[in-house]
Amino acid sequence: MRAGDGPVAPEGAPGGRASSAPLLGGEPEPTLFELSRPGRRAWQLPTTGVPEVPVAGLVPEAHRRAAPPALAEVSERDLVAHVTRLSHRQFSVDLGAYPLGSCTMKYNPKVCDAVAAMPGLAAVHPATPAGLAQGWLGLLAELEQALCAVTGMAAATLQPAAGAAGELTGLLLMRAWHQAQGRQRRTVVIPDSSHGTNPASVTLGGYRTVTVPTGRDGGIDLPALRRVLDEDVAGIMLTNPNTLGLFERDIQAVAEAVHEVGGLLYYDGANLNAIMGVVRPGDMGFDIVHLNLHKTFATPHGGGGPGAGPVAVTAALAPFLPGPRPVRGAAGYVWEVPERSIGRVHSWHGNSLVLARALTYILVHGSDGLRRVAQLAVLNANWLRLRLAGVFDVPYDRACMHECVVSASSLRREHGLRAADVAKALLDEGFHAPTVAFPLIVEDALMFEPTETESVQTLHALAMACERIVAAAGEPGGADAIRQAPRHTPVLRVDEARAARHLVPVATDGAGEPPR
Ligand SMILES: *Cc1c(COP(=O)(O)O)cnc(C)c1O
Repeated sequence: MRAGDGPVAPEGAPGGRASSAPLLGGEPEPTLFELSRPGRRAWQLPTTGVPEVPVAGLVPEAHRRAAPPALAEVSERDLVAHVTRLSHRQFSVDLGAYPLGSCTMKYNPKVCDAVAAMPGLAAVHPATPAGLAQGWLGLLAELEQALCAVTGMAAATLQPAAGAAGELTGLLLMRAWHQAQGRQRRTVVIPDSSHGTNPASVTLGGYRTVTVPTGRDGGIDLPALRRVLDEDVAGIMLTNPNTLGLFERDIQAVAEAVHEVGGLLYYDGANLNAIMGVVRPGDMGFDIVHLNLHKTFATPHGGGGPGAGPVAVTAALAPFLPGPRPVRGAAGYVWEVPERSIGRVHSWHGNSLVLARALTYILVHGSDGLRRVAQLAVLNANWLRLRLAGVFDVPYDRACMHECVVSASSLRREHGLRAADVAKALLDEGFHAPTVAFPLIVEDALMFEPTETESVQTLHALAMACERIVAAAGEPGGADAIRQAPRHTPVLRVDEARAARHLVPVATDGAGEPPR
């Protein structure tokens, strides 16, 4: 939600404050049905000259409408104004800083959308025979190669439709590989800082999770890991940097220990933004890697839109990949199913236009550009970490990668405020909230991921907004006001438990009661 008319950001403060588009003051947004007037149309069709055929007789009476459908009747002008006004009530990556940790909500270059919209790509049916879709197959093969180069892997599937779908695919590959070795294993190890999809994928993949605690430095507790490793362990799932934004310094020792008991290493690549072009999961010892193209490689996400979670593997695992895959033959590209394939994980070839955006992003940046993305993401996160160190508590005080985790535990102790209250107050400041209450191992966690696309001025404005909130908490009545934030957004504070169960998208008048 973007901020409304609140007097919150200082004059000339860059960054989070969204566009100057007017909100409709205290007026509730009229619905399309309220705008409707009989006979108005948003389209015109030329007359065809073909005589009209009476419907009677063509469609049986029982299947015909007695009354016209209850649709709003509006002009194109009113329709466009309505939708444009609504779009300005929504916070987006194109409007301002969106530091939602773990999600990598970065600005997506518009050239990627322009390529994805080209009719030669967008209008091709996925069932088109390979001989007539050589361009598409070539694009997919080139993307696969690029992702293998970035990850240090031998081959990849582009089919999985999201990160979680990639995780499940990876676990099914792990299972198929162990079966091919003639053994049955039952457990997969994950750290207690892991993203929630990891244990869910382990369970869906038919394994039992074994959790390992986080050590004092924020990395995996190596002695504790060694204690749980045995011949029943199919593998380990890790993200590096982990969800605290910290690099696993012991990764080589972890890889050796897991491989020693015959397990595989799965890399959750949702955090690739921090390392691409600098270090490769393959060189760290990983066997299976999924990437979130909608996070690192320029597809807008977060509204339930399509994503892509390709899975790249070592040469030993390539024969098990899902199929069909585009492969270059003597007479051009053909679809081929790997010899021991686990089968399809998508009804077609994946979310193809997300894949086209990703390749565009990679080609526009080149390998130097991708490295620069990671370097700037890490620089921005550390700049913010150092600025916020004087504002919030810092649970793990060392250099971070592309995101930093701080804690609102002092605010909680002194003023009874929670991390979520700070996040809500930031909405009034014109910033999207950081991730709260995750990772679970940090009390009142606030997880900021500024991304490489934000300027230092924006980071400065974000840090100042945090400082104002913490200072306000100490004023008389300040904590109570923060508990009621946001007060300047189109939708005010909602009862989150209720809102999650009763989805009623109701606009408020900007000053009145939250939706019930
Ligand atoms: C986002 C994320 C995932 C899941 O990806 P989806 O595309 O949302 O399914 C997994 N692990 C980490 C660390 C993530 O940040």
